[in-house]
Amino acid sequence: MRAPLTEGQRAALRDELERRRQELTQRLREHQSGQSRTEHMIQVREQDADDVPQREGERELDMAISDLETRELGRVADALRRMDAGHYGLCADCEEEIPFERLRAEPWALRCVACQARREG
Ligand SMILES: [Zn+2]
Repeated sequence: MRAPLTEGQRAALRDELERRRQELTQRLREHQSGQSRTEHMIQVREQDADDVPQREGERELDMAISDLETRELGRVADALRRMDAGHYGLCADCEEEIPFERLRAEPWALRCVACQARREG
């Protein structure tokens, strides 16, 4: 059954998106200060040449996490914008309502399960 979201469902999803946005913003901020801590540790360990591969791994991991969080934050902000614009919860491809069950699991979902599966082919 494809039914439009009720006011209550929409409000719950908005809450979830806003909570998520706050959490990600916070985490990115912590991560940025964490990066300077890592740099400090690198300086402390500079003498020990054996640490080089591990340090590079840490830096890559740091960047990968920041990347992921930034991308997720973008998706969350997008979903909130769609909500404000009044077309939240509609599939970007077939324009059908995305079921609440799916949105609850993934509030920033852009497509219904069928269209998403087609894309990922
Ligand atoms: Zn669709």
